Amino acid sequence: MLGKTKREHLVEAVKFFSSKGWTPATSSNFSFRETSKNIVISRNGVDKSKFAVNDLVQVNNSGGLIKSQGEKSSPETLIHTCVYNQFSDVNCVLHTHSPTSTTVSRLCKNKGEISFSNYEILKAFDGIRRHDEEVILPIFPNSDDMSEFCSWLGDYFSKNGFIHGILVEGHGLYTWSNSIDGAKRQVEAFEFLLECELLETSVNRNRGSGD
Ligand SMILES: [Zn+2]
Repeated sequence: MLGKTKREHLVEAVKFFSSKGWTPATSSNFSFRETSKNIVISRNGVDKSKFAVNDLVQVNNSGGLIKSQGEKSSPETLIHTCVYNQFSDVNCVLHTHSPTSTTVSRLCKNKGEISFSNYEILKAFDGIRRHDEEVILPIFPNSDDMSEFCSWLGDYFSKNGFIHGILVEGHGLYTWSNSIDGAKRQVEAFEFLLECELLETSVNRNRGSGD
């Protein structure tokens, strides 16, 4: 097939996120579903401005490396496999650490979720056709224990069904879609919405303090 491979396609998306400042200090991780039995995911500790096809590794559906040659997948691999195992239509999971998503996750943590509605850009999300539909972005506490985090995620999915992504407190954004393009579009849409949220909060605070 002519054109880019999925690996090249993902690398291009990662470099775009890096150019936007959304992947600082080797953070963030990215994957796509390769077959029903394995996913391809970024290896750990790579400067994303220099990310290349050979920085991608294969893992099975439980997060174990296939044909390990000393490299490590991201520590957050289990979050990716949890999403793939839950939603059979999801083929790409992307995770960024932007200043905006991190700040909003801390400001809004007590609300537990952010609801976005009446934004034209909502049409960028899978299945959303109207600006007045609602996209919910839940905020999870951060954890260094991936088994614990994935059990929270599994419980949330069981209770709420499909969602487009999550924020992790003081950490960043996860979003997923049935394609690499779709997931990239949703990262951009969430980043835009979170920036609007932050601007609105700031404007409202200034208005409040001026009264
Ligand atoms: Zn992370």
